Amino acid sequence: MISVEEALNRILTRIPVLGLEKVDIISSLGRVIGEDILAPRDIPPLDNSAMDGYAVRSADIKGASRENPISLMVIEELPAGALPQRAPTKGEAVRIMTGAPIPPGADTVVMVEDTEKAGQQVRVFQGVPPGENMRRAGEDVKKGDRVISKGSVIRAAEVGMLASVGRASVYVHQRPVVAILCTGDELVDVDEGIADHKIVSSNSYTLSAQVMECGALPLQLGIAKDTPEEIEEKLRQGLRADLILSSAGVSVGDYDLVKDVLGGIGFQMEFWGVAMRPGQPLAFGTIRKKPTFGLPGNPVSSMVSFEQFVRPSLLKMMGHKNLFRPVVKAILKENIIKKPGRRHFMRARVSLEEDRYVVTTTGPQGSGILNSMVEANSLLIVPEEETEIKAGEKVQVLILDRGFESAGVEIT
Ligand code: AMP
Ligand code: MG
Repeated sequence: MISVEEALNRILTRIPVLGLEKVDIISSLGRVIGEDILAPRDIPPLDNSAMDGYAVRSADIKGASRENPISLMVIEELPAGALPQRAPTKGEAVRIMTGAPIPPGADTVVMVEDTEKAGQQVRVFQGVPPGENMRRAGEDVKKGDRVISKGSVIRAAEVGMLASVGRASVYVHQRPVVAILCTGDELVDVDEGIADHKIVSSNSYTLSAQVMECGALPLQLGIAKDTPEEIEEKLRQGLRADLILSSAGVSVGDYDLVKDVLGGIGFQMEFWGVAMRPGQPLAFGTIRKKPTFGLPGNPVSSMVSFEQFVRPSLLKMMGHKNLFRPVVKAILKENIIKKPGRRHFMRARVSLEEDRYVVTTTGPQGSGILNSMVEANSLLIVPEEETEIKAGEKVQVLILDRGFESAGVEIT
């Protein structure tokens, strides 16, 4: 049995980063960009008005006030998106809307609130220094600036920036197709008749959902009975995927069957067994260079193993640099005892109590108790050699669901 860290290292060194594909910018949301984006022009491209008002020569309205207004001749009206036809000369003004380019000759904008229209003239009640109420060309982005760096994750802001610099499509890392095979004579699919001696293959669905949460694409291979023929036939269909997950049949006793079948189609095993709970009977290797995980069948073991090993693998394939969930320190609200030797990932609920995190387990921790995951928003990490932790001590908690952070307190 190897440690969680060693397992992770051995897995990640076998995981390739997938190549690039071109997608439209909306579809790039959440993906990792594979190119540097340079601005082809200044944004905004021209000096423009930040207010509705009048573009004027500041010298012309120097000293203007309510008591001593200065009148200017209005020579044109400039809506946003229009180009000025004439440059105002001494004593002239241009009516200007927010976003419209500043006409040459004008050097400032006086707000409409500080003026009064009188026929073809405007009375200005306020002197304004040069450069007021204007947005400068290039104040957002300068031509040639790198606005998004290769390797960044595209969020809404980046989608907007891509549009802003004129990019309708962009290169991002591909999303892996993940084949999912569940094995077991006791399994039926959710829409088959559910007899008392059968159980629904919930792993088919949790694993698909976990794959999708990572941004990858599940490929359901269905359920194989515990026969070499069926397992092999289904696994072969999985070879067109980028990564293969097989669920169950990896615990002691059972394992030979899946291992033999895997061996028959070229499985090169890296390791079997990790010093953790749940999730100890994990097998990992490659089939024709494709990363292949034999996940334990118990629903909680399957989910926790996926969290620890498959999620970082899929994120790496998609070009992510940050492969791991946040871990925070929290105050334990109950006593915990365990046997030494394995790292435990207890299903837990973390919450904010004033300015600190507190954590409780979600009750019975059996690896078949899927409800312990339904109730959980986190995994409490109990180190290998720990045997007892008392209420009030600090523990490490891996955050699965950040929804509880709405109180606005930073993670420390
Ligand atoms: P195994 O790894 O085959 O010994 O299975 C361990 C436990 O997990 C057994 O109780 C199985 O019934 C359960 N199990 C196996 N596969 C699935 C599945 N696809 N969905 C839900 N439970 C499963
Ligand atoms: Mg089984």
